[in-house]
Amino acid sequence: MLDYHLHLWEHRPGPVEATLEQVAAYCERAAGAGVQEVAITEHLSRFRQADRVLQGWWEDDPSPALAQAMGAAWEEEQGADLDGYVDVVLAAKAEGLPVVLGLEVDYYAGRMAEVGQLLDGYPFDVLLGSVHWIGSWGFDNWFDTTFAGEWDRRGVEAVWDAYTDALEELAASRVCDVLAHPDLCKVTGRRPDVPDEWYDRMAEAAARSGMAAEVSTAGLNKPVGEAYPAPALLARFAAAGVPFTTASDAHRLDRVAERRDEVRSLLATVGCTSLQAYRGRRPRTVALG
Ligand SMILES: [Zn+2]
Ligand SMILES: [Zn+2]
Repeated sequence: MLDYHLHLWEHRPGPVEATLEQVAAYCERAAGAGVQEVAITEHLSRFRQADRVLQGWWEDDPSPALAQAMGAAWEEEQGADLDGYVDVVLAAKAEGLPVVLGLEVDYYAGRMAEVGQLLDGYPFDVLLGSVHWIGSWGFDNWFDTTFAGEWDRRGVEAVWDAYTDALEELAASRVCDVLAHPDLCKVTGRRPDVPDEWYDRMAEAAARSGMAAEVSTAGLNKPVGEAYPAPALLARFAAAGVPFTTASDAHRLDRVAERRDEVRSLLATVGCTSLQAYRGRRPRTVALG
């Protein structure tokens, strides 16, 4: 069992710093839940080094209201140092802790080459690829009134279409290794009556790119109340030969490695007995355990 999606910091403004003690505490809690290896995967968007490359990306959106809301959200959580973060996780690895160095990378339309160049300068083990935004619309930020109102202006099928377009482009960019929370577009609980065509496209995108798909309990804590991916999408990934990682997407210690039994049950429904781990961006198969 793995927990390959862990954040050190919650989504709130203020100074953020990685410490060896925090990484060690995450490893200890995960081990207690039967997890053999964790990946620390903070959001790329929180680091000053990302700001230097991507500052202002939200201005590409034709909606001034969405661009302004995204710019404000970006600035609010900015300021961490990527070099310090990398050094702390590498120090934990060097001490023999069961941790690998990762990052959660958003899809930035038209800018993935620059993102790839920035990341190439660091010794990452695994990169998660995520679609949290459609243009500058943070569709999964349903507690922000500007973003939440957008759900009522767009049809559900149009949202799923735009999300899946972005996911396909992210996969085709080959910048990342794992599709994080692959059907995040269901986060608020709104989904098409028959989502099959979108599931087919998501599974095809993963299979074509060679990316793994993440099985995450984070959706159980969201309005949708369902793990990612939905059972029908999980089955499509398995049928297409897409490997899996497992994740809690915890942002604090007491959620690390939570609900591993539910992850195990989900994987059992598709006969999955192994997971994909990573070292230096190279996949390796490990027993589910
Ligand atoms: Zn995410
Ligand atoms: Zn995350």
